[in-house]
Amino acid sequence: MKERVAIVTGSSRGIGRAIAIELAREDYRVAVNYHISREGALEEAREVLAQIESAGGTGITVGADVSTSEGAQQLVDETLAAFGQVDVLVNNVGVNKDQLMLRISDEEWQQVIDTNLSSAFYCSRAALKTMVRKRYGRIINISSVVGISGNAGQAHYAAAKSGLLGFTYSIAREYGRRGITANVIAPGYIQTDMTAALNEEQTARIADGIAVGRLGTPQDVAGAAVFLASDRAEYINAQVIRVDGGLASM
Ligand code: NAP
Repeated sequence: MKERVAIVTGSSRGIGRAIAIELAREDYRVAVNYHISREGALEEAREVLAQIESAGGTGITVGADVSTSEGAQQLVDETLAAFGQVDVLVNNVGVNKDQLMLRISDEEWQQVIDTNLSSAFYCSRAALKTMVRKRYGRIINISSVVGISGNAGQAHYAAAKSGLLGFTYSIAREYGRRGITANVIAPGYIQTDMTAALNEEQTARIADGIAVGRLGTPQDVAGAAVFLASDRAEYINAQVIRVDGGLASM
């Protein structure tokens, strides 16, 4: 495993951070990607790197806006320059701008689609070139249960997360014979900054509708990602794995 290299997009915080750290614990060399436009993101990415290194792992931080084609290419190029290969790509970045359908502006629609969906296309296209040459690759796309069921107030987010399913099925078919698998993880409610706006009452109500009786943690999602990245998951392709604790309503 020591030879393998993983890129995790949006890994300065939340689920991406947990995935980057868990992959490093499994001996992957990891590219930690952070969003250049937010103040403090570089410091957070450096903290992730420090955690990786204190666990004996190796990594780099790459500031790149992967919702653009140029940013995605830069992320892959810097990873190749540092490590010479890309074996695992976790398309994790996401943003939600909850809004009733009639109030979603053109800009909000575009930002949510570009961040959640186009980023996966840009990063996968850039990384697949090297994966195809090596005849090995794992692409793991972080969608959401909302991409399966839809959700009021999230038409743009759900459209992007559903889009990731069709995107994944297609690249799984296109590249399966070249040793490359593509799968989706669909988290339910996970405790990160994205769900931090929920108050105590809302959190309790949501937990009530989850079979295991609690919201998920970033580590819950990271466990599934590490498994899908591993050789044990070689024959798992074009699948959606829900990590939602048995969420009843979606
Ligand atoms: P989060 O805490 O908001 O973290 C999102 C990460 O993505 C941050 O590191 C952010 O960087 C980065 N990012 C956003 N736009 C970016 C861009 N254009 N380029 C590079 N990095 C960018 O979110 P999370 O809760 O961990 O969610 C991770 C993924 O899981 C998302 O795709 C989300 O949709 C999905 N998900 C989350 C939940 C949940 O309940 N939390 C449920 C289902 C699915 P900055 O810190 O610099 O902004």
